[in-house]
Amino acid sequence: MYKAHKIDDDLYFLHFTRKSWPTGSNIFVIPDRDGLNVIDTGLNENASFEGFENCLAGLGYRVSDIHTVYLTHGHTDHIAGVNLITNHCTPRIYLSEKSIPEARKPAMQEHYCLPESVRKIVPELQNFDILANFEQSCGRWWLEDIEIAPIRGGDRLTIGKYTFSTILVPGHDIGLLVFYEPSLKLLLSTDLFQSTGPGSALPWYTSTAGGVGEYLSSLQRVEGLDVEQVLPSHGFVRNGFSDAVEVTRSVIKSREQKILQALQDGRKSCRQLDKLLFGEFLLEICPWFSTITEAHLVALKNDNRIADDDGCYVVI
Ligand SMILES: [Zn+2]
Repeated sequence: MYKAHKIDDDLYFLHFTRKSWPTGSNIFVIPDRDGLNVIDTGLNENASFEGFENCLAGLGYRVSDIHTVYLTHGHTDHIAGVNLITNHCTPRIYLSEKSIPEARKPAMQEHYCLPESVRKIVPELQNFDILANFEQSCGRWWLEDIEIAPIRGGDRLTIGKYTFSTILVPGHDIGLLVFYEPSLKLLLSTDLFQSTGPGSALPWYTSTAGGVGEYLSSLQRVEGLDVEQVLPSHGFVRNGFSDAVEVTRSVIKSREQKILQALQDGRKSCRQLDKLLFGEFLLEICPWFSTITEAHLVALKNDNRIADDDGCYVVI
């Protein structure tokens, strides 16, 4: 379930190999003289955790060697594994400050992943229990009684022999942090970019996590970095850093264009637009993808380009 790739002397990329949801995040492992640092932790699921343990064993380590965990944001598929790691040891846990509420409280996770405003305009989602869905797919993910220390955008984190700068890039999640290591010209891009495999469902965003405007600003914030290698939290990027920025931006822009074009052909509901953007199959697996459509509808309404029309939307 995890396959280790050596990136540098003391930096390993553990690639989560299952391609369909639920997909645990990739995990970064950085040994130092005290043991192991890990960045993100994947699912609370025995099979994938076994894969993680096997990878560590292949590198000559055990889970109990982990002394510090960094979490790039509060989504369930990145944080749930903490609940298994803490069966073996008591590492320090760092998490993006803005993501702490959603990692602690299921109601906050729901607020950022399936806002009430989306349920209001998509009748099919009114009774959809996203928290039960997440618990079933990612395991018990919330971090209730675990001490968590905050990290923020602009922090410099010394992890092993590396120094990472963190950059806050909201849109996908309110607290999403990417980790940049300038001497390696390496960016741990977490869930910011579209990538291969499960990451091809990205970019994913919600109006409560920053929405379309913040997402585009986040891409702008990172695009000037000097990056030679980019490692995402799901799959791999296809063609390097600038392509990843550009592809991600163009996916967001093309969704907006599709919505505007569809509305020019006549009024549509959010669900009709969902089907157009994502198709029935993806909506079947991830019904909460309406959040993307809603984020665009909010942005377009704020720009006075569309208006509500009795449960539907029209261009102005
Ligand atoms: Zn995420």
